[in-house]
Amino acid sequence: MRKDQFESPDYYMVEKLFSEEQIIVRDATRQWVKEYVSPIIEDYNLKGVFPKELIKGIAEIGGFGAILPAKYGGSELDLISYGLMMQELERGDSSIRVMCSIQTSLVMNNIYEHGNDFHKEEFLLKLSKGELIGSFGLSEPGHGSDPASMQTRHTIDGDHYIINGSKMWIGNAPFCDIALVWSKSANDNYACFIVRRNDPGFSTSKIDKKWSFRASETGELIFDNCKVHKKYLLFESDSINAALRSLNIARYAVACGSIGIAMECYDVALKYSNERTQFGKKISSNQLIQKKLVDMVTEITKAQLLNWKLGMMMNDGDATFEQISMAKRNNVSVAYNVARNARQILGGMGITAEYPVMRHLINLETLITYQGTDEIHTLITGRNITGVSAF
Ligand SMILES: Cc1cc2nc3c(=O)[nH]c(=O)nc-3n(C[C@H](O)[C@H](O)[C@H](O)COP(=O)(O)OP(=O)(O)OC[C@H]3O[C@@H](n4cnc5c(N)ncnc54)[C@H](O)[C@@H]3O)c2cc1C
Repeated sequence: MRKDQFESPDYYMVEKLFSEEQIIVRDATRQWVKEYVSPIIEDYNLKGVFPKELIKGIAEIGGFGAILPAKYGGSELDLISYGLMMQELERGDSSIRVMCSIQTSLVMNNIYEHGNDFHKEEFLLKLSKGELIGSFGLSEPGHGSDPASMQTRHTIDGDHYIINGSKMWIGNAPFCDIALVWSKSANDNYACFIVRRNDPGFSTSKIDKKWSFRASETGELIFDNCKVHKKYLLFESDSINAALRSLNIARYAVACGSIGIAMECYDVALKYSNERTQFGKKISSNQLIQKKLVDMVTEITKAQLLNWKLGMMMNDGDATFEQISMAKRNNVSVAYNVARNARQILGGMGITAEYPVMRHLINLETLITYQGTDEIHTLITGRNITGVSAF
């Protein structure tokens, strides 16, 4: 792969909206990605394994639990700083952003918000240092968009819960030390458990043959009369909404991360178009190429502003589930179109691992689907504006 020469597009000087601290977080993350992620990521992507040697470094830059209090190993970042961190990490590769996102938004934040002192003390510091890696199991083989219909069940047996079922498409599953797992009781109440790697009846598998998110290891969590001590029940709820709302910060991270991808693809395509000549002139001098680049930077600019405004609302605790949905859907779609056009501007070179564009493009296939599909987010927004649910 070529040297990482990323320069961030910022056509509307959105940076002026950021605080000094937010810029420091963004720049430090960008530098770390250039130094440690870009030189190795293509190889790991081709091999289909996560670069575990980066876990210590991710912890050192505050990537695990960034928004949590320092007492629990967090960096107490505001949501805009966190969003910028996710933007920069995903510019490096989706697998790196996903590692931080699962650990921070889905595992640590849920333990922080719903756990008791025992849960917090047993897990949070170790998770922040990367000594423990978490996963989050909501989706199942038969229930993705409709998690309320999950089949995983738990019953009580003395001091333990017995869990049966499986969770599918789970990031970090093959090597996680703990898994936050959603299950239903006989009377259809939902519960979230902290399952530890050595709990009896718990095993994991890896999905090896996948073309997207190759450097993020995805697999199944399997519960065969899995015995979990009662003290590892994180919380219970009579509604699936508790599980869905716990996705809020993770979906915001996708909205921010996908724009990191778009910025990178645009930057690469712009530079390539000014270097590559055909018919005796730079390809950037063609109107059709310029139209593509103009569309890219326009949509990126709009999405950067959307992220900033959403981050402000999240900082104030005002952002609704539906507003987060809109940004996730829009920004992934923007990034997809940008990456697709960048790939085309690069011609044949666009499909090689010499440039990051094709890797990002195939990762976007997952971003469209996971954390709620494009269709489901459309329906969430549709329900919100019309007052009528279509699903
Ligand atoms: C790489 C990867 C990593 C993932 N990581 C995790 C993780 O860590 N934890 C976790 O819990 N899950 C994870 N997921 C699962 C992800 O959230 C689900 O794949 C997603 O919710 C979609 O579910 P599904 O794949 O079962 O598709 P389905 O729900 O079967 O949907 C198939 C298609 O039908 C459409 N559809 C479904 N219902 C409707 C409707 N009512 N109206 C219109 N269209 C509809 C969908 O939009 C989609 O296009 C991951 C997925 C992938 C691919």
